[in-house]
Amino acid sequence: MLKWTVLFGKKMPTRPPAPDSLPKYLVEGVPKQDDVDLRALQQWIDELLEYRQEVAPEDIDVGDGESLETVEESSEGAVVIKKVSCGKETCKCQRGQLHGPYKYIVRRRGDGLDWEYRGPVTDTLE
Ligand SMILES: [Zn+2]
Repeated sequence: MLKWTVLFGKKMPTRPPAPDSLPKYLVEGVPKQDDVDLRALQQWIDELLEYRQEVAPEDIDVGDGESLETVEESSEGAVVIKKVSCGKETCKCQRGQLHGPYKYIVRRRGDGLDWEYRGPVTDTLE
């Protein structure tokens, strides 16, 4: 490869570096794919990202002692507002006065759902 670049008198373009956060098996595996598979992979990734955002209200499961307030779709994923119980026996939440409401962004990850906590909801819900 080096000889070839010298012969033609111009530098080969260097491969763009992989994002640091990617696991090794992707950094090593992805560049080995041919163009057709890379394009297919690109499209599949787009579809996966879209699928992850599409969390329907019926997919949202809240635990015992939790109260689902609202579920709304957004470009980030499902925006879920819920009230929760802390589990302490002496707490008011054990008598139905739950904590919150708190906001979460819920997206698909693997076979399950990923709940990203976004903090307490301060605005009054309608
Ligand atoms: Zn509590």
